[in-house]
Amino acid sequence: MGRLKRQLLQPDIIKVKVKYFLYDEQKRRSVCQIELSNRKTCSVSVATKNPTNLKNHLKNHHRAEYEDLMSREAEETAAKKQRMQAGIVAAKCY
Ligand SMILES: [Zn+2]
Repeated sequence: MGRLKRQLLQPDIIKVKVKYFLYDEQKRRSVCQIELSNRKTCSVSVATKNPTNLKNHLKNHHRAEYEDLMSREAEETAAKKQRMQAGIVAAKCY
């Protein structure tokens, strides 16, 4: 069961990027899209599209979004795992 984890995590990380950052192909930078409390967009650009670096920005500057993201990732991973297991069980029944 633990072996599935690594494969399942990858698509979640990509979704994260789409939700909180816009990647500028020309400048090769990801621009943070999170709205701040003063109704302005953060707009900080991170010189990468590496999900780990983007997550670090969230961790340091947008704690609430970061926590939200982490719990959602965990939920999605668990849900997928459950679906996989359900599939395996169903297959074994026939
Ligand atoms: Zn930001």
